[in-house]
Amino acid sequence: MPRRIVAIVGRPNVGKSTLFNRIIGQRDAIVHDQPGVTRDRHYADTDWAGKQFTLIDTGGYVPASDDTIETAIREQAQVAIEEADLVLFVVDGKAGQVPADASIAGILRKAQKKVVLVVNKVDGDSPHGQVSDFFSLGLGDPIPASALLGRRIGDLLDIVTGDVAATDTAPVDPRLKIAIIGKPNVGKSSLVNALLQQDRHIVTDMPGTTRDPIDTILKYYGEELLLVDTAGLRRKSKIKESIEFYSIVRTLKSIERCDIAVVLLDASQGLEHQDLRIIETAVERKRGVVIAVNKWDEIEKDDRTAREYERALRETLRMYAFLPIVFISAMTRQRIYKVIDVAKSVDAEQNKRIATSELNDVLGPDIVALPPKSRSGKEIKIKYISQVKTKPPVFAFFCNEPTMVDDGYRRYLENKIRSHFGFTGVPVLLSFKQK
Ligand code: GDP
Ligand code: GDP
Repeated sequence: MPRRIVAIVGRPNVGKSTLFNRIIGQRDAIVHDQPGVTRDRHYADTDWAGKQFTLIDTGGYVPASDDTIETAIREQAQVAIEEADLVLFVVDGKAGQVPADASIAGILRKAQKKVVLVVNKVDGDSPHGQVSDFFSLGLGDPIPASALLGRRIGDLLDIVTGDVAATDTAPVDPRLKIAIIGKPNVGKSSLVNALLQQDRHIVTDMPGTTRDPIDTILKYYGEELLLVDTAGLRRKSKIKESIEFYSIVRTLKSIERCDIAVVLLDASQGLEHQDLRIIETAVERKRGVVIAVNKWDEIEKDDRTAREYERALRETLRMYAFLPIVFISAMTRQRIYKVIDVAKSVDAEQNKRIATSELNDVLGPDIVALPPKSRSGKEIKIKYISQVKTKPPVFAFFCNEPTMVDDGYRRYLENKIRSHFGFTGVPVLLSFKQK
């Protein structure tokens, strides 16, 4: 079931970032603190009462120039209402209603999506006066809150997560869903167009479709594959911050909806922070991943440059050594269908199940050769192993002291699983359980 995407929109200074931090700070939001990954995220995974969602703050995408701020806010509200599952529209209860609020409300009212109108900065005990000013926005009952003091945030989250089950009813599409993702200008649209050539079939029956179809069918050797969220690729803006916001919303949404994420990189530029973050996000969400290095035509002048480029890239991506890398050119069409072949093979890998007997026979000797030890030096006994799930594969290790197995040993086991059984392109999960 796709995790829902909740976007926070509103004018500057109404308290969007404060609300974002309040919501993710209260919960066990996943905050990554790895080298090479900054913590200035404007989106985060969190949950309320066991219901998971991804929260995005448009306040992180504000242009520096005053005369583009208003346009950017409107553009981002538009994207939020089209792409997110729910919009939190924040207004300032201290300032009261201002014309810009009405203009944003006008955009939000047009869509079918659920909008929650949050009147922030209601710090005191009697919200009525501050709230009544906002009924006229035509977005239903305004919900009072104080992001700063953390008041009524629980009520708000009850509303946000209240109808999660309703999004759960979409029929499962048996076609392989491939998302082509990557930062702006890496060549995503070019690749989609190159793959489709003339043979363009548009899906019209997808749930969630408003006016435009959001996915595209690719016919490949008689099989239908879905390229997800291709409509989002056509979006244009002159404002850099809006482009970044579109890019991240589309990325998150596409990852949620896909079976396989093809992360496109631009060979003519070095690997950037944003590229790594996209790879990280797909891996975190346990999708099968293929890395496709596009614009290879600009690099492959001679063998030596190509080899050196590839070596350096693999070195930078060594944390993700299990991901396959394909070198392509959407422009010359070089190896573009290899991307699809590799995506299909990664999908086969993520659906693979290793029999319990085989798993124990093969991994048993590795565990005997290097048994896990607790910090105090006590040996941890792994009794048996079973693959309890596919897509993503989950391996359960039944042992006497499940909490004592450290990260280093987890990596050892994961490497052994990969060296014996493959799972190329597939994030795997290891779970340690009491026998
Ligand atoms: P954003 O631009 O919409 O992201 O707004 P910020 O989150 O940066 O907040 C703008 C200002 O409003 C900051 O000075 C916050 O401390 C203040 N603020 C945010 N939430 C509240 C609140 O609930 N009550 C009060 N009194 N101030 C708040
Ligand atoms: P998107 O923003 O990721 O969808 O990127 P586009 O498909 O719009 O491509 C961005 C730019 O890169 C355009 O100018 C393309 O012509 C160019 N481009 C795309 N693929 C290739 C390629 O394989 N080789 C070269 N040299 N340029 C490419």
